[in-house]
This record gives sequence, structure tokens and C-alpha cells, in this order.
Amino acid sequence: MKIMVCIKQVPHQDARLDVKGDGTWIQEEGIKFEINQYDQNALEAALQLKDASGGEVVVVSVGPERVTQSLRTALGMGADRAVHVKDPEADGSDPLGIAKILAAVAKAESPDLLFTGFMSDDGNIAAVGPMLAALLDVPHTTTAVSLKHENGSIQVERELEGGALEVVELKTPCLVTTQTGMNQVRYASLKGIMAAKKKTIDVKTVADLGLAGQVGAGAAKVKIEKLYLPAKGQGAEILSGSVDEVVGKLVGKIKELGLL
Ligand SMILES: Cc1cc2nc3c(=O)[nH]c(=O)nc-3n(C[C@H](O)[C@H](O)[C@H](O)COP(=O)(O)OP(=O)(O)OC[C@H]3O[C@@H](n4cnc5c(N)ncnc54)[C@H](O)[C@@H]3O)c2cc1C
Repeated sequence: MKIMVCIKQVPHQDARLDVKGDGTWIQEEGIKFEINQYDQNALEAALQLKDASGGEVVVVSVGPERVTQSLRTALGMGADRAVHVKDPEADGSDPLGIAKILAAVAKAESPDLLFTGFMSDDGNIAAVGPMLAALLDVPHTTTAVSLKHENGSIQVERELEGGALEVVELKTPCLVTTQTGMNQVRYASLKGIMAAKKKTIDVKTVADLGLAGQVGAGAAKVKIEKLYLPAKGQGAEILSGSVDEVVGKLVGKIKELGLL
């Protein structure tokens, strides 16, 4: 089975984020990046399917030069090949723009199964996966917490409200978006990292994919107007002291409000 995993590079969970001067995105200089958590789980799910029954795992990412590092990590974990869409023409794409780019790569790759994360840790839009499935005209399901491949179909267990689970079956080719925590993500071993040096990262431009003028900031129908941290609430009070002191003060406040 050929599996395509879409991975987005996002700011590291521990990165201290500031808003950029023009107020439309975060300040990217000087912060560390990593593979989006949901996409790490997607990659692990793909590698487990490959470990069980063979096949090929291709990772795809749209983004600037720094994305190479995340693709190398994915190759070190066990992905076979990578495609990097690296082109300033793609900058400022809205989710549909990103989905169009990924769809063009998918059409060239013809995977049996596609993975995206349920959402990205930075944008949180949760739209790219379903849009990609629609552009490719393949069935999809979201928020997978486990899955298996049997007789040409993919059985997915997905999470619903209140802890309920639902099982759905999709005929391949299909697309699945993954929930975090669905599996224990492996580390890239030293052997894997060394082997990754010989693996290919295929670099593509928007024009290579036949999408010149169709993606990027100019084509985006959704524009980020403003990114900001909301002002602190009027009644906000920051409790200080040791953990025990803060807990004591907090319990006192809750009692004062008659909530305990
Ligand atoms: C400078 C700058 C300007 C921007 N301007 C805009 C704008 O004007 N309008 C706007 O809507 N957005 C803008 N964006 C955000 C942007 O391009 C988002 O990545 C895009 O909108 C998709 O949103 P999301 O990542 O939240 O998608 P989600 O739907 O939350 O992502 C779900 C999954 O899709 C896959 N995926 C998402 N992005 C990628 C990727 N790049 N490569 C591979 N797989 C991916 C991953 O598997 C991910 O888990 C801007 C970003 C930057 C850096």
C-alpha cells in the first residue's frame, strides 16, 4: 500500500510566541519548529501500517527552507521519500490553497491512503484534510484514534463527544485525519537518521504542480486581518507565592464566591 502523509511544520510547543509587526502572523525569527503533533501521530500510523504489511510512505510538506529539517526527521523515523513544495508563491495560502497544492502532489503520487492531522497546532483550522479529500474525490473520515487495513478497506475508530467511539469503513483510496494521542510516536533512531541522508527530498514549485496564480496570498479567499492577544479581563487577579500558597489562596477565593 502506498501512503501519503501531509506534515506541517509548526512552532515548537515550548516556543515563546510574539505577534509580527504588521499584526498578521507570528514572529518566526529565533523560534524552534517541529512537526505538528497531529501529523506526528499520522506518520506513526502510516509507519505502523507499513511495518505490518509493507508498502511505501511518502511525506509531503508545503513551506519554506526550514521545513527540510522536519522532512529529514520524518525520513529518519522511517518514511521512504519526501516531497517539499518550497515556493514563495505558496506563502499566505488559505486552507483551500494548501489543499490544492497537496491535491496536485497526490494526483502525481496516486496513494492508496492519505493522512493529514485533524488540525494544525498553529492555525487550528481543521479544514485542509476534508478539502483535500473533496478535491481528490475520495472518501474521508476525521479524528481517527485507531485504524486497520483489511481487504482493500480501512477501518477507522473515531472519537465522538462524551467518550463515545464510532467505527467507519472506507474503501481505498481514501483520506483519514488523525487525533493526537492515537499512538506512541517513535523517535528517529541514529540508524534511521543515517539512512535518511540517502533518501530523496523532491523539491517542487507551484508552477511545477500546474498551480501558478491559483494559490498563495493573491488567490486566498480567507485573509488574516489581525492576530492579537486579547486584553486582560478587568477583574483578573494574578495569585502569587509557592504552589501551596497559590492553591490555598485559590480555594479561599472559590469559598468567598460561594462556589465551594
Ligand atoms: C505569513 C503567513 C501568512 C498567512 N496568511 C494566511 C491568510 O491570509 N489566510 C489564511 O487562511 N491562512 C493564512 N496563513 C496560514 C496558512 O497558510 C495555513 O497553513 C492554512 O490556512 C491552513 O491552515 P491550517 O494549517 O490551520 O490547516 P488545518 O486544516 O488545521 O491543518 C490540518 C492538516 O492539514 C495538513 N497541512 C496543513 N498545512 C500544511 C502544509 N503547509 N503542508 C503540509 N500539510 C499541511 C496537516 O496534515 C495538518 O495537520 C498564513 C500563514 C503564514 C505563515
